[in-house]
Amino acid sequence: MDLQHCNSCGDCLIACPLSAIQGILESREFDKDSLVYNDSYTPLIKELLIYKKRGVTTVRSESTLDNQKWIKVINNANDILVKLDENTIKLNENREEKELTRRAFFSSLRKEGYQLAKNMTPATWKMEAKKWNITRYFPDYQFFQVRLEQEKCTFCQMCFSFCSQKVFILHEGFLQVENEKCVNCYDCRDICPENALKIELKINKKYIAQHPFHTKNCQTCGKMFSTFDPNIQKCPICHDRDPEWLSPYQ
Ligand code: SF4
Ligand code: SF4
Repeated sequence: MDLQHCNSCGDCLIACPLSAIQGILESREFDKDSLVYNDSYTPLIKELLIYKKRGVTTVRSESTLDNQKWIKVINNANDILVKLDENTIKLNENREEKELTRRAFFSSLRKEGYQLAKNMTPATWKMEAKKWNITRYFPDYQFFQVRLEQEKCTFCQMCFSFCSQKVFILHEGFLQVENEKCVNCYDCRDICPENALKIELKINKKYIAQHPFHTKNCQTCGKMFSTFDPNIQKCPICHDRDPEWLSPYQ
């Protein structure tokens, strides 16, 4: 697994029939309302945002936190929390207590943090993969913007069926795009043969886009097709047919 390219959409966890992917939250330790710092991993921004909504207020470190990766992730998560009108995650460094209470500190982490850790360890959210969907915790917001370029789209509907989150919903006469459901998996963008989709990381108040479309009969082959462009009279197949080729309809 190339973690450089993983954007933590969680799709693989949900899709794998054998639960072969354990996930990215391998060994997290919690103490009451704190995530305990550990240099063996760097949390994801999304992960911190979810912990925040599940009760974590602080990152606790037994000494001065100088891990730049952690600091960067905490700062980025806090920037997003400000945009979301939420309190930020605090940093709690137990510098003075380090020598005196180190043993007691870890003992208490194990004992008192057990229940919270139990609630947040991978086994739990792996079984309930929907908990990995961030908009579940921030229902008034969308984190990704699905941009559909209507002039490129041929209405092949591949993206509609490939989207595991049901972001695209066809109604009579219009396509509804429910941005808040998007988990940034890129399946739709990758499957689109016309390069008509873009997914942007953009935090906004929830917005459901509606794209009106037209259903017509192709003036060449007579078959029914749909298009966003009211001026198009031919289905995509007839539209793209090389005029030098013998048409089967004439
Ligand atoms: S809209 Fe595209 S990127 Fe978003 S969840 Fe659906 S398939 Fe994935
Ligand atoms: S896959 Fe691309 S061309 Fe096909 S309906 Fe979706 S956006 Fe349009």
